[in-house]
Amino acid sequence: MARSYVHEARRRGLGRRRERIEPIIARIAEEHADAQIALRFRSDLELIVSVMLSAQTTDTNVNRVTAALFEKYRTPGDYLAVAPEELERDIYATGFFRQKAKAIRGTMRMLVEQFNGEVPSRLDELVKLPGVARKTANVVASELGHAQGIVVDTHVRRLSQRLGLTRQDDPVKIERDLQRIVPRPDWARFPHLLIWHGRRVCDARRPRCEACVVGDLCPSSRVALPELRSSGASGRVRAGTGSSRR
Ligand code: SF4
Repeated sequence: MARSYVHEARRRGLGRRRERIEPIIARIAEEHADAQIALRFRSDLELIVSVMLSAQTTDTNVNRVTAALFEKYRTPGDYLAVAPEELERDIYATGFFRQKAKAIRGTMRMLVEQFNGEVPSRLDELVKLPGVARKTANVVASELGHAQGIVVDTHVRRLSQRLGLTRQDDPVKIERDLQRIVPRPDWARFPHLLIWHGRRVCDARRPRCEACVVGDLCPSSRVALPELRSSGASGRVRAGTGSSRR
């Protein structure tokens, strides 16, 4: 189990999770107004393929590969019309190309046979697709405008723990904790906010707590609260307003 910053938040008098979550969302949303999925896609089909390819590699790498891939493969049938080895070659640069090609072909076959060639938006249907685990299904459903859960990746996991929003280590349990406190309309954008905040400020090794807009709400901040309030960064650290910018 992760070190409990939930308890630390209480010890430091920062307030309960439910009280801190809205100002956390509002401030990070203001700081990273451009936070959104980094994968490039033009259709539901391109979305699910991009997300499947993004396992164990960067979004930039996936975008580089899909720029050509999506010109060649435009329908589920296109992925089934070529030999498996050809698809493997076309996605080789994303790594784990054999497993990914197998999963993509399996998913395309099921889309054709059971979903009329369309990508479903229900989580319980998405997770039936070969190679589509809960995280992938959550990303796809959220981007299709039907968020039914909260995506928990490595950034979301780390930041949820550091911010004292969960005591858990297991992504499924973390998601359950987040679902209890994150307002439902924010389920789709919440992971993007934590991902961008994680990349730009709350780095895994060197979090820049002195420049963090939620420092006074974070139980793992390395900067003491009185310092935050009197420092140059304090102008960016506003006492909890629940107002939310969309
Ligand atoms: S205060 Fe530090 S640990 Fe907390 S969210 Fe900000 S950067 Fe991360």
